[in-house]
Amino acid sequence: MPKFKTLDDIGDVRGKVALVRVDLNLPMKDGRATDVTRVEASAPTILELADKGAKVLLLAHFGRPKGQRHSTMSTSMVQGDVERVLDREIMFIPEVAGPVVEQAIGILRDGDIGLLDNVRFWPGEEANDPEFARAIAAHGDFYVNDAFSAAHRAHASTEGLAHLLPAYAGRAMEAELTALDKALGNPEMPVAAVVGGAKVSSKLAVLEHLVGKVQHLIIGGGMANTFLAARGVDVGKSLCEHDLTGTANTILDTAGHAGCTVHLPYDVVVAKEFAANPASLRTCNVHEVAADEMILDVGPLAVEALGDVLKTCRTLVWNGPMGAFETEPFDAATVALARTAAALTQDGSLVSVAGGGDTVAALNHAGVAHDFTYISTAGGAFLEWMEGKVLPGVAALES
Ligand code: ADP
Ligand code: MG
Repeated sequence: MPKFKTLDDIGDVRGKVALVRVDLNLPMKDGRATDVTRVEASAPTILELADKGAKVLLLAHFGRPKGQRHSTMSTSMVQGDVERVLDREIMFIPEVAGPVVEQAIGILRDGDIGLLDNVRFWPGEEANDPEFARAIAAHGDFYVNDAFSAAHRAHASTEGLAHLLPAYAGRAMEAELTALDKALGNPEMPVAAVVGGAKVSSKLAVLEHLVGKVQHLIIGGGMANTFLAARGVDVGKSLCEHDLTGTANTILDTAGHAGCTVHLPYDVVVAKEFAANPASLRTCNVHEVAADEMILDVGPLAVEALGDVLKTCRTLVWNGPMGAFETEPFDAATVALARTAAALTQDGSLVSVAGGGDTVAALNHAGVAHDFTYISTAGGAFLEWMEGKVLPGVAALES
């Protein structure tokens, strides 16, 4: 496990100013957040520091203002949502550095929480400008990063600050790094990876990394069609990247040399039109797909066999749904395999970690998100981690 410091290592924080990078990039509708999961994730870190007597300054981005002030992208837009989740009043501070921040710190009492404005209003944030980072760091006694979802960016608030102040992982960051380490860093073997979703092209780097890491690579979703086509299967009208069949074959060869078994579906659910419960719906062997049909889900026989594969594994990492799960009945394979993984996790035989925007939605749809060992909501950062990349925001905490 890579070594990083946590809140347990800070010591007495009373009266100290904590600069805490959090994820407040909430989806909004009519001036209110439609989902506050990200705030809930960091609430333990914020409240722990406040309750220990630190003055907590929250630092976050909100939208893409590209280095300019936009009133609609001020973090004050989410102040009410943060207050509701924390059940505390917080002070909005319309800057991230300078005399206004200094003055606010003078007003805040020990244990109070301040919310700095959108750090991306300043071009120095995304440029990771050391001078900009130093101006922010001047206000803090220490830095806490609790935003894994932004850790794939080397920005001033995610990376630069960690080099200027004593730096710690917040509780959400700690939980995420611990879970990810158990899944791919130092996993118990055998390890299975489920990779699904629409396209091979969006997950090439993930596939290339995983074939050298896991014992079983389960490919589903639209991307399985490209692999099937690479193996000479006629996939009809299915979503398929025919220009990537060569790449798919290379991945299959690499897997063969690395001792990684690749599982492609051998039965599939097809239809002539993409609609809910279409009249043309049928299940068939992959070799029987007609020219006017498209593959929209993995078939029941394959799902059962994949469940048996998971039973032989100790660790599972999952990104991407097995089928077009938003439309019934093409959610069946994703739901069934997710339930098997959840049951094995609850039995204690499997460590299961999943991530990805649509994957999280699919696991929620299957009703099993809470039965997995860990679900990452980090999106881009989760994918980069699955690609085996070093995330700059994480690396900076380790130094
Ligand atoms: P994530 O957001 O979890 O990384 P992706 O964005 O890669 O996942 O892929 C999810 C999308 O893939 C879903 O919208 C789903 O409908 C689509 N999909 C899965 N299987 C198929 C298929 N056989 N044909 C077309 N689209 C599919
Ligand atoms: Mg997606």
